[in-house]
Amino acid sequence: MTSTHDDWVHRDAAVVWHGFTQMSAYADNAPIMVESAEGHELIDVDGRRYLDAISSLWVTTLGHRVPELDQALRDQLDRVAHTTLLGNGNRVTVELAEALAPLVPVDDPHFLFASDGAAAVEQALKIAFQYWTNQGIGDRTRYLALGGAYHGDTIGAISLGAGGFGTDVFDPLRFGVLRAPGYDRPDWADTAVALVEAHAHELAAVVVEPLVQGAAGIEVTDPASVRRLVDAAQAHDVLVIADEVATGFGRTGTLFASEQCGIRPDLMTIGKGLTGGYLAMAATVASPRVHDAFLGPDLSERTLYHGHSFSGNALAAAVALRHLHLLDEWDVLDNVRARADQLGAALDERIAPLGEVEAVRRRGLMTGVELAPPGDDLRWGRRVCAAAVRRGVLLRPLGDVVVVMPMLTSTATEIDRIVDVLAAAIAEVGADPGPP
Ligand SMILES: *Cc1c(COP(=O)(O)O)cnc(C)c1O
Repeated sequence: MTSTHDDWVHRDAAVVWHGFTQMSAYADNAPIMVESAEGHELIDVDGRRYLDAISSLWVTTLGHRVPELDQALRDQLDRVAHTTLLGNGNRVTVELAEALAPLVPVDDPHFLFASDGAAAVEQALKIAFQYWTNQGIGDRTRYLALGGAYHGDTIGAISLGAGGFGTDVFDPLRFGVLRAPGYDRPDWADTAVALVEAHAHELAAVVVEPLVQGAAGIEVTDPASVRRLVDAAQAHDVLVIADEVATGFGRTGTLFASEQCGIRPDLMTIGKGLTGGYLAMAATVASPRVHDAFLGPDLSERTLYHGHSFSGNALAAAVALRHLHLLDEWDVLDNVRARADQLGAALDERIAPLGEVEAVRRRGLMTGVELAPPGDDLRWGRRVCAAAVRRGVLLRPLGDVVVVMPMLTSTATEIDRIVDVLAAAIAEVGADPGPP
């Protein structure tokens, strides 16, 4: 007799095409089949519980089914679910933008809303490009991006991205960018600054993930290096786009990583944690310098002719607004810093010294544990995560890097449990490393 779980996996694979997933292997990789959730735990179709230690792929901040967020959503449903932002406004979206304005590291910002991080990045690219053409400057058309960069999956975003993740097949569709090294290279900032100085006249913008390159495998850098690159770009009049889709909303210990770096980007992208992980909402944040370069006569070519159907969705805005208040009311950032210290100490003591571990990288609660498999193609990342899932903790790897991304409201007990389970999962795989 098949379990409820197996039955659902079968139905799932018959009709759903999962992202970043080889569908022929989907069922064999023990996917969990969520039916509901409570706080930091997911509950599957058989009633089994899993601690969500990846924050549902880095989006959930306070937890699932947070009563206050649920209520904000219900209250907004009694007003309106969605109306267009193209040429018209919606009260709750205005309130959200007003609440975000003093919090983002951009003075007097304007928010162009979108639904996904990749769309926010595309918007930023187009805005940076048109910013120059609107001023009659036609030769600032290139972007500088870093090795290891990840900015989403649309064509513009993968052009900025460093490749890998099976995206090389799209090389003929990508536009070229100027490529500096990534955070895995200690001298990355020197090279990036030199490239800015040599190519400023043709650069529309520099695009950077401040402090942490998430999808690269949680590669980290120091705030001063980010600051040096941003200072060089701004000194040469090159726009700076800070992609805080992953680092935004508290993950690194401050509301935005840009704060730690001491930078004020010209454009910024936010997404993932914006609605606490509830609904698809992202935004491109523009400084007045950028925004005002698009002002001109009605219907003129200076206008930004770009906008998505669900831009500024009212339900998402209502949840995002309440979420901002809760981050403050609950002193969430204090908890992030305390739990991050605890996690860092536990990883240093129990995980970093293991022979199966190459490196532990962390900023705030964004953590990558890079494994050291004794050979290629041993799928250690996947096997360690599968062993953790069997122990009731949901983890997901990036290659052989186990990503640990606990929710911002994690308790001390949960952090201990994640490290316990990770240690046990690594021991299990280390005891049976795979074919020689
Ligand atoms: C996830 C991510 C994106 C893309 O966001 P989506 O919502 O998945 O489109 C862009 N930039 C960074 C840094 C990200 O981590």
